Amino acid sequence: MRYFSTRGDAPELDFEAAMLTGLARDGGLYVPQSWPELSRKEIQDMAGESYEEIAFRVIQPYLGGAFEDATLRRLIETAYAGFAHPARAPLVQLGSNDWVMELHRGGTLAFKDFAMKLLGQMFEETLTRRGERVTIIGATSGDTGSAAIEAFRGLDAVDVFILFPHGRVSEVQRRQMTTPADANVHALAIEGSFDDCQALVKSMFNDFAFRDRVRLAAVNSINWARVLAQVVYYFSSAVAVGAPGRSVSFSVPTGNFGDIFAGWVAKQMGLPIEQLIIATNENDILHRAMETGRYEVTGVVQTTSPSMDIQVSSNFERALYMANGRDAGSVRGMMESLRQSGAFEISADALADLRSDFASARATEADVSGTIAHTYRDCGYVLDPHTACGVHAANARRGDPATPMIALGCAHAAKFPDAVEAACGVRPGLPPHLADLYERDERMTVLANELSAVETHIENMAR
Ligand SMILES: *Cc1c(COP(=O)(O)O)cnc(C)c1O
Repeated sequence: MRYFSTRGDAPELDFEAAMLTGLARDGGLYVPQSWPELSRKEIQDMAGESYEEIAFRVIQPYLGGAFEDATLRRLIETAYAGFAHPARAPLVQLGSNDWVMELHRGGTLAFKDFAMKLLGQMFEETLTRRGERVTIIGATSGDTGSAAIEAFRGLDAVDVFILFPHGRVSEVQRRQMTTPADANVHALAIEGSFDDCQALVKSMFNDFAFRDRVRLAAVNSINWARVLAQVVYYFSSAVAVGAPGRSVSFSVPTGNFGDIFAGWVAKQMGLPIEQLIIATNENDILHRAMETGRYEVTGVVQTTSPSMDIQVSSNFERALYMANGRDAGSVRGMMESLRQSGAFEISADALADLRSDFASARATEADVSGTIAHTYRDCGYVLDPHTACGVHAANARRGDPATPMIALGCAHAAKFPDAVEAACGVRPGLPPHLADLYERDERMTVLANELSAVETHIENMAR
């Protein structure tokens, strides 16, 4: 299997290289040359299989032999062994034909654990075989950083440094980054904003001498291996409610478009999906683009679903590439226009194509708190604010009521206790495996918002 950049100006790679690189050198995102299809019978057979077995069947065709089958099975088993539910992604019923898929049973209580945990195992296996090491650097406003630390802690071939804005992440999020005791993880509290942290990471990647000395690698949400790992739970949940005998719809709380693009991939592979609903919060660039055909950057507003507070949606580029018939020239044009003027137009044909696959809806802050409140009143179930965006959009846009609707439950309510309590009066508690989080020792380094200070620290600490 070969991987092509959406901008057409970077070398084509195999799976392993695409995984280790993350972002293509021309600024594009890697997309596989084709979408392997699973037969109806193969999908039917998943109904009785474990999450891990389904993961093997979905992921294996994309690897082009990068891992032996037995190795891949072992990596998958190890990745999900620590999840606090045997089904890994269990369904909870909220209405006669409405479900939430709980994707928060991993170590950091958000869906990013699914992809990050497997990516950690794949990195370790590949790097150990090659006798190489890498340093992973990321900036986080919350969920991604803790998921990366949880996934890479204790691995031999990887050091991980996560920059976060000092004093500006929630206490749960900070503690998830500062309490792992493993020597290879480093939480760096930067005296600045999240944008400052992102700018520092970008500068480090652009400092080629530094980049080569510490062998920098990126594991952000544009990494193809992360999207691939997320395709699995569309299959496991759909077969649990009757696919392939019946079609299934999904409503997906969306920021960078990684999670919902994984649903689109599942559809290409043969899963009968009726609707894929892009659920945005008030940062609604994607909803506006789907409504008008114009993708236009405005400012970011802070909401109670911070992991969806985005200005641009990086994985949307993959959907644009496919909707434009894999024409990298059109993608380059749109991205150049975005860079110059903060906006681009989607062609009529591409927009029609996107609309045939995706619906969209925006949840205002009032919609989010209203949805948390009535779901608690009607079902006794506590949604987190991100999941509430998905449930709201599902209700706003659902088509055939006979089609099961699955909203992706992206985070555990206990990650956002203040917003949840304000909405429904219940303060959600941490699940048992994290119950002592507030008592654990914290370890972090506070650094000035200065490139040289951060680089020096990283070079001193990387093994
Ligand atoms: C990352 C995240 C999202 C957005 O997912 P994308 O793949 O970026 O669209 C939504 N909710 C939560 C809780 C997240 O952590």
